[in-house]
Amino acid sequence: VTAASELADYLGRLSALERVAGLLGWDQETQMPLRGAAQRGAEAGAVAAAIHGLASDPRLADLCDAAEAEGPDLRTATDVREARRMHARATRVPATLASELAAVTSQAQGIWARARAAKDFAGFAPTLAHVVLLKRSEAACLAAPGQSPYNALIDDFEPGMTAEALAEMFAALRPGLVDLRGRIAEVARPAPQLAGTFDHAPQLALSRRIGEALGYDWSAGRLDLAVHPFCSGRLGDVRITTRVDAEDPLGNIYSTVHELGHALYEQGLDPEIALTPAGAAASMGVHESQSRLYENQIGRSRAFAQWLYPQLTEAFGDVGLASAEELHRANNAVATGFIRTEADEVHYNLHVMMRFELERALISGALEVEGLEAAWNARFLEDFGAAVPDAAQGVLQDVHWSVGLFGYFPTYTLGNVYAATLDAAIRAEIPDLDEQVAAGEFGALLDWLRPRVHRRGKLAAPETIIAEAAGRKPEPAFLIAALERKFGELYDLG
Ligand code: ZN
Repeated sequence: VTAASELADYLGRLSALERVAGLLGWDQETQMPLRGAAQRGAEAGAVAAAIHGLASDPRLADLCDAAEAEGPDLRTATDVREARRMHARATRVPATLASELAAVTSQAQGIWARARAAKDFAGFAPTLAHVVLLKRSEAACLAAPGQSPYNALIDDFEPGMTAEALAEMFAALRPGLVDLRGRIAEVARPAPQLAGTFDHAPQLALSRRIGEALGYDWSAGRLDLAVHPFCSGRLGDVRITTRVDAEDPLGNIYSTVHELGHALYEQGLDPEIALTPAGAAASMGVHESQSRLYENQIGRSRAFAQWLYPQLTEAFGDVGLASAEELHRANNAVATGFIRTEADEVHYNLHVMMRFELERALISGALEVEGLEAAWNARFLEDFGAAVPDAAQGVLQDVHWSVGLFGYFPTYTLGNVYAATLDAAIRAEIPDLDEQVAAGEFGALLDWLRPRVHRRGKLAAPETIIAEAAGRKPEPAFLIAALERKFGELYDLG
């Protein structure tokens, strides 16, 4: 028996347990009866402990050494790299700190929710200060020699990415977005709005038809309802969730299309290695590039509106829009709002960039929680030209920091930059993409993504996968150019 095959077995078990944890999470959000919550904590905790046990076991480090000594192929070398990453994460943070973080963040979520309902940042600030203190300690434990604590946190979601590289990318993106936002606001043209009766059943039926058309394999997945939609699972079992609002069928459609982008990626991993670390999705940024590509570059194109419009009227009758062109305008309404998750393509990345800078300062110690609300409101006014009315629409709106997610926000905008870079290359290589999309044909698009992105797993660095797929380095300029083109035309900007 080679060390490489022993390592593969070991990591196969670890990966299986992670999928079990994912299934428990999916069940909790979609199916679990109310009274199941009490025992679910113990079940999830037991699985987490088993995962931690395997990841922290010195035997894993020994297997990595032995596999490396054999002169491994790319797949095994990638498994070794990922196994070392997991082992370092599981062993560098003391058990007392890890359990304190788990305890504090699980309570913090409830405290955050109450403070947000009361629009009262002061009610959450002491708890958040505790979370930040613990995250600073955790990040200091995780940081490799010479690595900043915040970069150690980013590395968890986007291997190899740094705050410095992100800051440079965002600095190139921000002025163009602020300028475009301002010019659209001056035009002050309201977009058409949907009106009609949008029952649950036809909304879900339309979601399923869209999944079918985009190439989602229903024999390897399912669709359920969740308050905050997500995608979970891998390869042969990739489940998506969506939400249904009787007033807003577009919310359902675009939430579904977004999660389908994630799901197509997971279903499209290389089956030979998908259930090992080497074959898993490259990073959060690459994942988000797939969901955003389908949601924005494809889903909010004029061609997609041409395909969608007759299906909308067939499902719901009169929807208050006279044409596919009006649907296209409704899909691309730009308006200043305070909430990130409701933001349009022009405003969205401005939200993310301010969170990136604030959380980077919180982890480094340049900003303390007591100054966070004022810093948030000042930055919002500068970038959005509007004063935040209350904390619920400002600093309290996102759950991320309460559950200890720092270093995660920037992957959203990174994903948008990656998506725009891929889209430019795809349109050059599939010149009739719009005609295909308008006809409901999405096969060529998926065939393009499968070998270039999905099947590569973690066999190359995230940025390398995007650069090699697109044949060019990912750049914010692709995103700015595409937004200028689309919104310049829609809003008649000179
Ligand atoms: Zn996403």
